[in-house]
Amino acid sequence: MNVKIDPWSSTNIEDYSKLFEEFGIMPFDGLYSRIEDPHRLMRRKVIFGHRSYEHVLDAIQNKEPFAVMSGFMPSGRIHLGHKMVMEEIIWHQQKGADAFVGIADREAHSVRGISWEKCRDTGINEYILSLIALGFEPHGHIYFQSTSDNVKDLSFELGSKVNYSELSAIYGFTGETSVSHMVSAVTQSADILHPQLEEYGGPKPTVIPVGADQDPHIRLTRGLGHKMNMFKIEGRENKDGNHYFSIRSKAAPEGALEELHDTIPGSTKLFEGHLDVLDADNFEELLKTVRNAELRYGGYAFVPPAATYHRFMSGLQGGKMSSSIPESHIALLDEPKEGAKKVKRAKTGGRISLEEQKKLGGEPDKCSVYELLLFHLMEDDQELLQIREECVTGQRTCGSCKNLAAERMEKFLKDHQEKRELAKERLDEYCL
Ligand code: SF4
Repeated sequence: MNVKIDPWSSTNIEDYSKLFEEFGIMPFDGLYSRIEDPHRLMRRKVIFGHRSYEHVLDAIQNKEPFAVMSGFMPSGRIHLGHKMVMEEIIWHQQKGADAFVGIADREAHSVRGISWEKCRDTGINEYILSLIALGFEPHGHIYFQSTSDNVKDLSFELGSKVNYSELSAIYGFTGETSVSHMVSAVTQSADILHPQLEEYGGPKPTVIPVGADQDPHIRLTRGLGHKMNMFKIEGRENKDGNHYFSIRSKAAPEGALEELHDTIPGSTKLFEGHLDVLDADNFEELLKTVRNAELRYGGYAFVPPAATYHRFMSGLQGGKMSSSIPESHIALLDEPKEGAKKVKRAKTGGRISLEEQKKLGGEPDKCSVYELLLFHLMEDDQELLQIREECVTGQRTCGSCKNLAAERMEKFLKDHQEKRELAKERLDEYCL
């Protein structure tokens, strides 16, 4: 399997477990028991992996500041895949996150050639209205990349820490790739890091809910966050086997290490370019002290951004879901009756004949109707498990599932579209 993941192509990632080994994405399972009132997508393992999400959970539990951020490229119709990310953002906002949603118009303009006017129109009328209709509250931030000076200024700064070879290794850029396309990659890193700017309360854990194909952005951005920071703390051991921390200055102004030397209690030793802390037993406290010193000296002190990774839905006809094939997906602006019809035409995991279905049972894991219920249309886990049970034991017919899912889809689309109309009235509560 080719596991090179490219956010600009729609490569189907078949074997998610490879991502754990190859890219160091951690399984989400291990954190699940710490989450109070987990989201449907967490409970059902649609969210399967993470990076550094434990810091976000700590912040939720300790009621400390944290942020959630994700972006949408205004290049097509909003569909159920986008809804899934929006729900994750809103869930975190409800848990106390400062929530940021970026409309990636710079990316749409540079990569897809979409005019600025069209980007704005699609951004508002497809994405932002649905985001509000799904429950995003106005105390969060919705912005367009092209009009956010914070994002643009930060992307310029970040651009000084990455070169063509690195971008090319991550994204497969070639000599034909336009400079704007490269700038848009760095702009997305600025999207991810900018919730930690002083304007928004400074460094904090920030989670980016994404599909696994977006991991290159996360890796690039975590690396850039490290490169921007003035200090690095390394855990070391001396020749007697005693553990200590070494604070390495990467680009700290003169005097910063000396100040840390004076501030950190206990035994410390100052050297040229680094400071050894010999008896720190609380790493988090030490980290906080170092970050505060960096902020005083005008640095960023970025916390490496966290991410959650979700599975993709398959296309309604099997294979990949594609924005350019209307029959493969349900758009949130599909006419409700048309949405229901698409469900009825969807591929199931049913057998060739009713007789065989009764004998062998169906295959819910190959069924796009079941997937719709699991991802979107059925909140009650017990109800869903019962359908699964009835399916695999041959007690259920695909017709009954299709009728149920089609009815729920029609109702969801109708309700959602009504809420979008109400959202139009509320647009001015959101600073766009
Ligand atoms: Fe899918 Fe339902 Fe048919 Fe099972 S019975 S394969 S869940 S449609």
